[in-house]
Amino acid sequence: MAADTDDLSNQAPPYADVDLFGSDLPLQEAVAANGAGAEAAALAAFGRHWGTAAKFEQARLANDNPPVLRGDVIDFHPAYHGFMADSVKVGLHASTWRADATAAPAPAEVARAARYLMVAQVENGHMCPITMTRAAVAALAVEPALATALMPKIGSRDYDPSFRPWPQKSGMTVGMGMTEKQGGTDVRRNSTRADPAGDHHRITGHKWFMSAPMCDAFLVLAQAPSGLSCFFLPRFRPDGAVNGLNFLRLKDKLGNRSNASSEVEFTDAYALRVGEEGRGIRTILQMVQLTRLDCAISSAGMMRAALARALHNSRHRSVFQKRLIDQPMMRAVLADLALEVEGAVAAVLRLCRSFDLAASDPMEAARARLLTPTIKYWVCKTAPALIYEAMECLGGNGYVEDYVLARLYREAPVNAIWEGSGNVMGLDVLRAIGRDGEASRVIIEALLRETRDVPGVGEAVTRALKHLDDAQAEAQARGAVEALAHLAATAALAASAPARLAEAFARTRLVEGRGGIFGASRLGDDEITTLIERALLT
Ligand SMILES: Cc1cc2nc3c(=O)[nH]c(=O)nc-3n(C[C@H](O)[C@H](O)[C@H](O)COP(=O)(O)OP(=O)(O)OC[C@H]3O[C@@H](n4cnc5c(N)ncnc54)[C@H](O)[C@@H]3O)c2cc1C
Repeated sequence: MAADTDDLSNQAPPYADVDLFGSDLPLQEAVAANGAGAEAAALAAFGRHWGTAAKFEQARLANDNPPVLRGDVIDFHPAYHGFMADSVKVGLHASTWRADATAAPAPAEVARAARYLMVAQVENGHMCPITMTRAAVAALAVEPALATALMPKIGSRDYDPSFRPWPQKSGMTVGMGMTEKQGGTDVRRNSTRADPAGDHHRITGHKWFMSAPMCDAFLVLAQAPSGLSCFFLPRFRPDGAVNGLNFLRLKDKLGNRSNASSEVEFTDAYALRVGEEGRGIRTILQMVQLTRLDCAISSAGMMRAALARALHNSRHRSVFQKRLIDQPMMRAVLADLALEVEGAVAAVLRLCRSFDLAASDPMEAARARLLTPTIKYWVCKTAPALIYEAMECLGGNGYVEDYVLARLYREAPVNAIWEGSGNVMGLDVLRAIGRDGEASRVIIEALLRETRDVPGVGEAVTRALKHLDDAQAEAQARGAVEALAHLAATAALAASAPARLAEAFARTRLVEGRGGIFGASRLGDDEITTLIERALLT
């Protein structure tokens, strides 16, 4: 009977009550290839939990009812708190750390990333404090006494949104304040001051962007007498008084609407230094490397969400007596989108594997260093274009709020902008190569070997990378970084997906190039069929 109704209205049933893991073969394969196969059953339960109609509705509510600033506190819709509680319960904010703030054993990163990628298909705004909390531990670890005091609260699986000093709470979240009016990328221009005051510092100044201002503490950069330094700045002073933070307003943003992003002033705010004085950038970069990784995972998740909806609609919608999924040009579009998502998912999970292995394998640590900005650049900048094309697959419905593509489209650009915008990622790749050219060479050779000799890849990569160490390096960096990302994705696909799909990815992205618009790649009929079938299992 349901089929009759569908025929009558020719509208797809809602995309809801799906198993976000069980329906996604490329994700399952990438999880298994990166050492987390034993998690499959738990991930399937997670995928069913997050793919319910109720969860999608809660996401709509959290974004349609954005947070409101009320003095020292932020009022969030209950749906937002529900997402926070759910994500904290499974440890998305802390599961990669042991109680002593050292890295949890493999496959902690890959297992978390698989979950994070699924949550990103449902609600994105709450993931900002989740990401910052887990990433902050990497910076806090340089102060063992402070980290030891904080870890019982940070590692807790209780979400405690109350406005109280962190030692009194059952769990805590941590934000980050670097960006000032006169300098975001260029944090050396930060003017916020840190004055020594005995066992602590007093911070005075402002931050132009400080997201998740309801966090219990923030890592902030401020100018100490010996230069820019990193500080732990809690919401309350040790005597229990509210600390000197004055939130001026919440930003009115394109997307990311369930998340609060504030402008804030500090007046003699109590803070503890983290890491050496004058080495603040180096300290906070420990955190930023992980927030960049999460940007890439989250963009891959949003791309997946858009693809799944495009496929779902195309299977249910008929045009000219034929389902869209059977129309040759639509198949070419869907397959090209699916191939991009396969590459992105494989690349980010393989990158997470490098984080899992970094403590015991210096080459994996170097790989994480080189490929984090590379993959953040490519995945986060591809996501808006891919989501736009998926939106068009739904025709007019794609432009309407009920079908989620509109929200994803507004959300996607922020991952490319924050935590280092596109050009900054390009500069960071150049920096990694400049500092350790030998390690970069070894990594690129390993990636080429891992692609298993797809014809033309070696030449394409050599061509793209040839200016990286000459005077034109900066002007040529975008093309080179994209090629490096495509190489990393091909290598990751070669390890997790059928060989002919790794070959198809390399051929259409690296060797031939696919043009600026999705759907124009030269894919064979069998490749198209395979990609479409694998992408959304029913
Ligand atoms: C919603 C939202 C939330 C945010 N939350 C936080 C937060 O919680 N904490 C925080 O600290 N910050 C936060 N930010 C700030 C964000 O990290 C910065 O906006 C971002 O890093 C860019 O810095 P900027 O805005 O100062 O731009 P600019 O530094 O002015 O950069 C402008 C452009 O110039 C490019 N560029 C910079 N240098 C070069 C160069 N040498 N060569 C070529 N191009 C270059 C950049 O890539 C960018 O495209 C948030 C931003 C947004 C949008």
